[in-house]
Amino acid sequence: LLSRLKDKDLAQTLGYIGDEWTPASDGSTYPVMDPSTDEEIARVANLKGRDTNAAIAAAHAAFPSWSKRTAKDRGAILRKWYELVLAAQDDICTLMTFESGKPFKESQAEFVGGVASIEWFAEQGRRVEGDILQTVHGDRRQLVIKQPVGVCASITPWNFPFSMVTRKNAPALAAGCTIVHKPAEQTPLTALAMAKLAQRAGVPAGVYNVVSGDAAAIGNAMVQSDLVRKLGFTGSTRVGKMLMAGCADTVKRISMELGGNAPFIVFDDADVQSAAANVVASAFRNAGQTCICANRIFVQEPIAEEFEQAVVDNVRKLKLGGGMDPKTTLGPLIAPNAIERVKGHVDDALAQGGRVLIGGSSPPDLQAPYSKGYFFQPTVIADATPNMKIYREETFGPAMPVFRFKYDEEAVKLANDSEYGLAGYFFTTDLSRAWRVAEQLQYGMIGVNEVGITSEVAPFGGVKHSGLGREHGKYGMDEFLEIKYIQMGLG
Ligand code: ADP
Repeated sequence: LLSRLKDKDLAQTLGYIGDEWTPASDGSTYPVMDPSTDEEIARVANLKGRDTNAAIAAAHAAFPSWSKRTAKDRGAILRKWYELVLAAQDDICTLMTFESGKPFKESQAEFVGGVASIEWFAEQGRRVEGDILQTVHGDRRQLVIKQPVGVCASITPWNFPFSMVTRKNAPALAAGCTIVHKPAEQTPLTALAMAKLAQRAGVPAGVYNVVSGDAAAIGNAMVQSDLVRKLGFTGSTRVGKMLMAGCADTVKRISMELGGNAPFIVFDDADVQSAAANVVASAFRNAGQTCICANRIFVQEPIAEEFEQAVVDNVRKLKLGGGMDPKTTLGPLIAPNAIERVKGHVDDALAQGGRVLIGGSSPPDLQAPYSKGYFFQPTVIADATPNMKIYREETFGPAMPVFRFKYDEEAVKLANDSEYGLAGYFFTTDLSRAWRVAEQLQYGMIGVNEVGITSEVAPFGGVKHSGLGREHGKYGMDEFLEIKYIQMGLG
């Protein structure tokens, strides 16, 4: 892997604490694997609670001066970071593909979206403004100012090793906060390269810290520290709930981007070919491992056959393989246990009357070096029903169930029948149907005739068990700011 990077210095394997590249206090390391070959690609410092506390102390010490700088100053540093990251595109995409397994083209797409977050927040920091209120007391004036919340802990997942880093850390820096970042243990290399570039961009010592390693130990140290005033997390609902409970003790601010189980409704007036192409793009993006992947497909009966056929035609074009092979459009899953989960959902669906239209198992015939990779074939299951696991639970893999429905109300009811509420999609050409359904779906983000909903200008986040708070857009800054009210008596 090292030999493939143009800039060898981006291959960092130590933690980054207060401007120092730091091994674990007990000297331990752990392996980072390539999911497409099951080979070790690097050994990375396995930091623990003690190391995390050192990073928190560094972030705390750096906070007063960083928060006092003007937004314009901080914006200039962010802009520099943006430019350096942009120049390192190929190396960063290579790191992403090696550690997460995603096809290089998907790494490039993630890069373009993710780097835009830095650019956006470099600009957005300067738009943080307070208010002067219309007073009800003639002898007093009432004002509102906004101040950075303090030291922010960010915990990011492996499925977007790059863009989760930028969407969490760029607004924190822009707001004047300092950061202790814990990347997923599977994908620390991209995150460490980003810290290296932040260091080069002139982010001062202690403002940006990265701790890779023991998730539970690092998480506990973050949660328990009173110096950490905010925790931003993207990951599973299970871990998110645990962290939320942990943050209660120190009453931290929290932002949570958790799981999803996205409905995708195709109404009888939809453009069937477009719906089919979009659902395949969404359901199999990152091998089905995104929190906004289309998970439960509901199609209205009159067009069901035609839609299912079109879906299968699109799935047939997917090419399974290693991410660095330019022909690959579908990569491996992140770990062997993910294959077990997907297989469990598929087998359960089949046992309950589901019908495999394509796929259904691990591929029989991948050649070296991919024969040991964590692959599962893109799978479509027709005749799916709500009593199946694949309806209720997040599959997080390349298996797509298709349910049929008769009436609009039925589709909306099924779509909302989930503890999750992250993204929902539907296809229709009827304007009143579009408004009605968009308002009725209990989801934080809605895609109408379109699945590419993520962008730096739009608020990303969910309702119900899918999370709290919003990232990106003008709303994204608020998560890193406290509102302070000041009253002045005129005497
Ligand atoms: P996934 O199932 O997608 O891996 P996780 O919620 O386990 O989702 O992982 C998301 C992030 O949460 C990763 O950075 C992971 O290391 C981290 N994580 C997992 N367990 C804990 C924990 N106990 N405390 C803090 N972070 C954790």
